Amino acid sequence: MTKTIQAVRGMNDILPDEVHLWQFFEHTVREWLRSYGYREIRMPVLERTELFVRSIGDATDIVEKEMYTFVDELNGESLTLRPEGTASCVRAAVEHNLLYGSAQRLWYGGPMFRHERPQKGRYRQFHQFGVEALGYAGPDIDIEHIVMCARLWRVLGLEGVVLELNSLGSAEARLRYRARLVEYLGQHREALDADSQRRLTTNPLRVLDSKNPAMQALIENAPRLVDDLDEDSARHFEAVQDGLREAGVAYRLNPRLVRGLDYYNRTVFEWTTDRLGAQGTVCAGGRYDGLVEQIGGKPAPACGYAMGVERLLALMQEGPLREAPAPDVYVVRQGEAAERYAQGIAERMRDAGLNVVLHCGGGSFKSQMKKADASGARYAALIGDDEVQAGNLTMKPLRAPRDVSNSGAPQPTAQARVDLAQAVALAAAR
Ligand code: ATP
Ligand code: MG
Repeated sequence: MTKTIQAVRGMNDILPDEVHLWQFFEHTVREWLRSYGYREIRMPVLERTELFVRSIGDATDIVEKEMYTFVDELNGESLTLRPEGTASCVRAAVEHNLLYGSAQRLWYGGPMFRHERPQKGRYRQFHQFGVEALGYAGPDIDIEHIVMCARLWRVLGLEGVVLELNSLGSAEARLRYRARLVEYLGQHREALDADSQRRLTTNPLRVLDSKNPAMQALIENAPRLVDDLDEDSARHFEAVQDGLREAGVAYRLNPRLVRGLDYYNRTVFEWTTDRLGAQGTVCAGGRYDGLVEQIGGKPAPACGYAMGVERLLALMQEGPLREAPAPDVYVVRQGEAAERYAQGIAERMRDAGLNVVLHCGGGSFKSQMKKADASGARYAALIGDDEVQAGNLTMKPLRAPRDVSNSGAPQPTAQARVDLAQAVALAAAR
């Protein structure tokens, strides 16, 4: 036998049995975004490598070791599969002058690619929904972003998602802090792991982001950026916290929260859970006032965040199971005339808004009924020579209506010969 070909490691198929959960999630997210006035933007998954190097920063994990980069042999250009969406979104906004004279509330969704070690909640192709507000300077939009996340968790029925908050201040404040941090870390050089030693010169703030348990005490005692914020950032941060208190959104200040991408300043936040093991961050973001200019646009303040779809779905699966959608009717048909007649009946039912699976491939009545049952449909529509002659059909209930307590109408428990309109009424009753 020929050897089977398998998917690339860390890149997952999403199979029909799990797709309904994705669809429910995606639908909910789209409606929620619309309710806040955000508009969708779609960018290519492939960008020039330079875009990510310039925005995310060349001394970050993503750019140093996680990007799928290759040379387009046709023209020698270096291209990269997008590891995140913010850089592309800002590039598109600048390229198409979207910020000319107006601010933009945007969102995008889709696959991202990072060459990481695959494990639960960490994949090489994963999915994000990202939200970006370009051209907004005030703390009001930072507050909106966090408050809207809190609403989404409620709508999705997620529990135990906790907000961590920090401010990275201005670029100048960060430079001052960098010097203090380097001095501190330099005094403890022997306690630094190899990664951190390297970062000491390339990107010292990232040492605070280290996940190495052996480093945690050192990190805990490091000087804190939030103690030395510039005045404007301090005021901005106060206003964000006031807004959150007013909105009743709980948060935990985490002075070690620095985020893994270089473009952030001022507000940064992460939503985390302890229910998913090591991969507990389900959503992260903050302010990136310098990025638009860095990518070549006229300076414009901005902030945004991205959520990891796989991790949020995993969290949803911790909760009560969501019923997979099933067809309303499964059409069972026997005999040559019935085959043709049933085809038309199924179409008329769909005209009436029902979800209908028409049995294909023949087989005995018994085997067709087995399939009807397995489909999860609430009714089987039985069509044989008798029904064709009479111009009607037999409706056989396969399971109880979804919510008996709420349906006033009596539900038939036995099969009944009915006309098309009656059949539709039966199957449409929830
Ligand atoms: P982590 O610290 O877990 O590596 P990150 O800081 O690299 O996360 P971001 O770049 O902020 O992550 O991406 C936003 C969100 O996207 C994360 O909070 C997470 O939910 C999700 N995410 C990031 N990388 C992956 C991945 N490799 N697989 C699945 N989800 C991911
Ligand atoms: Mg990462």
